[in-house]
Amino acid sequence: MDGVTGLDVHTLGIIGLAVGIAIALSFSLMSLVLRGMAALHVWAAAFWLLTFAGLAQGYDENGSFLSAIIGSVLIALANAAMLIGIAMHLGHPLRWRGPALVIVLFLLIQVGFMVWPPSQPLESAVFGLKSIFWDGWMVFFLLRAPRELKAGSLFTALVFVIDALFYVARGLVSLHPEMESPELASLLTTSNYLFGILCTFLLSTGFTLMLSQRLVHDLRVAANVDGLTGLLNRTALLKAAAPVLQANREHTHAVLLFDLDHFKAINDRWGHAGGDAVLQHFTRTLREGGIPARALLSRYGGEEFLLLAPCTSANVAVTLAESLRALVERSPAHYAGEPIMFTTSVGVATGTGTHIQRLIDTADAALYQAKRTGRDRVEAMVSDPSAGDRVNEATSAASALT
Ligand code: GH3
Ligand code: MG
Ligand code: MG
Repeated sequence: MDGVTGLDVHTLGIIGLAVGIAIALSFSLMSLVLRGMAALHVWAAAFWLLTFAGLAQGYDENGSFLSAIIGSVLIALANAAMLIGIAMHLGHPLRWRGPALVIVLFLLIQVGFMVWPPSQPLESAVFGLKSIFWDGWMVFFLLRAPRELKAGSLFTALVFVIDALFYVARGLVSLHPEMESPELASLLTTSNYLFGILCTFLLSTGFTLMLSQRLVHDLRVAANVDGLTGLLNRTALLKAAAPVLQANREHTHAVLLFDLDHFKAINDRWGHAGGDAVLQHFTRTLREGGIPARALLSRYGGEEFLLLAPCTSANVAVTLAESLRALVERSPAHYAGEPIMFTTSVGVATGTGTHIQRLIDTADAALYQAKRTGRDRVEAMVSDPSAGDRVNEATSAASALT
């Protein structure tokens, strides 16, 4: 019986087992629901391995050769699974080979210890180092988490750091001259159990945090980003434009609306996949074509793209539209080993004010004009909030250069 906590090792073992089963079960159930999350499956397996390791070691109190080896192997596998789950979750490639090598190495050491029993301090130092090594490896990956997964990863890293510090403290205590005293030994065993339970629980919280962050991030991306081109979608563009126009309400802004010419014919000739390749290629061409740093580019509809260039005059906007149009004209897409020539019409709207929709409507009218007058050309209009939208002769003249 332990004098400090009033808990004997048996009770702690049973509590540890119950906590382990509960966590492993909840991760397994979660992985049934969140099927696409590969790391979750690996972590669920890691928690089962940890639970079985506790069972194998606790089952045989005297620590027979077999139960100790099985326990160690299970713990090592659990550590490797956690590590691989973390690497997968954070998008770092990690092969099984590295962790497998470490497992074999520590296993050989353990077998060596059973054949030639070491002194107690040496044995606990080696096992402490083993745990610190795994902890350090996990922290190494966790500290490299991308920004959107940072909070959960830092929390989990903190748990591994605390775990490592615990082993350092335990190593120091084991060097104490009164180590032989039964009270100290019993205190160590109890604190080992309690700490193990606490850490497993905190780790499950850390992994759950990481999973929630990933889910929230993925949902946010899915809601705002077009899957085919990686551009902002219409909703995200409108949301992102509002504060930009609000902050620059005195300035003239430009909206460039692109619509690919005769796109139905491209789909008919090359199939939908060919059409998709053209859309992706068009996106790359625009991105690499020198769009202004502050501009927002979005896929506004099927094959309509919108570029919002804040604080941009009509002349600059028309010049930009014309250079992008010409670039598209001479940059064929490639699909099935063949070039696909295509062109785009552009409607340009410029104006002041904070209403993006008014600019878009004007750009749409200009685009219609560009289609009506032959396609593969730029038309521009000024969006005038007081006098209504009207064709601006000067900018139309500029586009007539096309
Ligand atoms: P116009 O020159 O008048 O613009 O002629 P168009 O053939 O391009 O006509 P329109 O702009 O109306 O064509 C839009 C076509 O774009 C219809 C639709 O099938 C196709 N489309 C929309 N979204 C996608 C997509 O994601 N992939 C592919 N491949 N095609 C798409
Ligand atoms: Mg269209
Ligand atoms: Mg079109």
